[in-house]
Amino acid sequence: MKNNAYKIAVVVTLLVFAVVGAFVYMNSGSQTAGSQSSDQPSIEGQPTMGNTDSPVQVVEFGDFKCPSCKAWGEMIYPQLVSDYVDTDKISFSYVNVLFHGQESELASLAAESIYKMDPDSYWDFQKKLYEEQPAQNHDAVWVTNEKLLEVAAETTDVDLAQLEEELNNATMADEVAIDTELVEQFDVAFTPSIIVNGTMLEDPFDYEAIKALIDEGLEENE
Ligand code: CA
Repeated sequence: MKNNAYKIAVVVTLLVFAVVGAFVYMNSGSQTAGSQSSDQPSIEGQPTMGNTDSPVQVVEFGDFKCPSCKAWGEMIYPQLVSDYVDTDKISFSYVNVLFHGQESELASLAAESIYKMDPDSYWDFQKKLYEEQPAQNHDAVWVTNEKLLEVAAETTDVDLAQLEEELNNATMADEVAIDTELVEQFDVAFTPSIIVNGTMLEDPFDYEAIKALIDEGLEENE
């Protein structure tokens, strides 16, 4: 009898180890998944459209002064939006990049203010601002308070006096700084840079490659 009790104690102990072990294993599994997703920029606080519960996140790092970003917005963005955002398959976020200096910064400050004050109008503002980028001689100064207020008046319902005050005081500087940290963290070297679930596109204009990455991400999670 004593021997049996000992055996039971051993079995119970082994069971406890097995359960604890399985729990630790499962936990470490979810940690692995977590570190994978940290390869994707955090989109917390970033303008995001589409399905925020989607397993596939697409992030654009863009600069309002960059001619390639304007081109991307005209050539790739409309397809991406109609194929995947309007159909609620993915989320799409935009992060500001300041590679062109003061004007990039001013445009980003305005965009962040618009997003805070009238988030529903953000994407219209953004699109219109890129439209305002001159097709030629884009290095000439065109991002001014006046231009930003004009675009805001046309595309949003924000209080223009407040927007102007926020631009003059760089009220949204912290938000722009968060974006700049992401640019550094993800080694963004050119704009636009497109990241699909942690993978940065070598050629952001290769829509087939963007589609392939998105479809792969969607299939994995079906
Ligand atoms: Ca931002």
